[in-house]
Amino acid sequence: MTDLRETVLWAANRLCQDRLVVGTWGNVSAREENCFWITPSGMPYESLTVSDLVCLDLESGESRGRWKPSSEWRLHAAFYRHRPDIMAIVHTHSIFATAFAVARKTIPAAVEDLAQAVGGSVEVAPYALPGTEELAKNAVQALGKKNAVLLANHGLVAVAGAMEEALKICLLVEKTAKIVLLANSLGSVSLLSQEDIDKMRHFYLWSYGPEKGGEEEA
Ligand code: 13P
Ligand code: ZN
Repeated sequence: MTDLRETVLWAANRLCQDRLVVGTWGNVSAREENCFWITPSGMPYESLTVSDLVCLDLESGESRGRWKPSSEWRLHAAFYRHRPDIMAIVHTHSIFATAFAVARKTIPAAVEDLAQAVGGSVEVAPYALPGTEELAKNAVQALGKKNAVLLANHGLVAVAGAMEEALKICLLVEKTAKIVLLANSLGSVSLLSQEDIDKMRHFYLWSYGPEKGGEEEA
C-alpha cells in the first residue's frame, strides 16, 4: 500500500509542475482514518520530504510533526468533518480561477468535463481572512455537495475521494475559467441545462471509464 504521505508529496510537486502555485501559497492534504496529513506552512514544495508533513487529529485538532501545519488546516479539517466522502484536498491560488474569485463571480459549468467532475458550477465563498474558522465555515457552506469552491479574493479548493481526482479538478477548474473568459471575449457563454449537468454527473460517477457493463450513455 502506498504511504499516504507519498501521495501528498506527489500532489505538492505536481502543483509546481502544472504551475498552479507560486512560491509556497497553496496546500495539500489526505485523510487517513481520524486524522489527515497536510503540508507544513510556508515550506517550498520541491524540497519537501515525507518527514516534513504534519499529521492532524480531526477530533482534537492536535498536530504531530516537527513543523507547523499549513495555516489553512482549519479549512481542510472542516471539509473532512462535513463530508465523509472527501479523502483528499488541494488548495491553489491559480491565476484564472483566482481571477473569478477576485471578481467574485461563479465559474459556470459551461464545459462538460467540469460539469462531470465538479457536479456543477464553482461558487464563490464569501470573503474571510486566510486561516480563519470563518473562512472554513464559509467555504464548507459554498461547497455544498460539489467538489470545488472558490475563496473570494484568494483561490480555489478542490476536494475528492482520491488525490489524483482532486488535482485533476484543480486543472479542470483552471481550464474552464480560461475557456469562459475566452468565450466571453468571443461574445457569450452558452450554459448547459441543470438537467444535462445532472445526467452527465451521474454518468461520470457510475459509468465513465474503460470497464464494460453499466450504463452506456450520459
Ligand atoms: P500555508 O503555506 O500555511 O499552507 O499557506 C498558504 C496559503 O495558501 C494560505 O491560504
Ligand atoms: Zn491560500
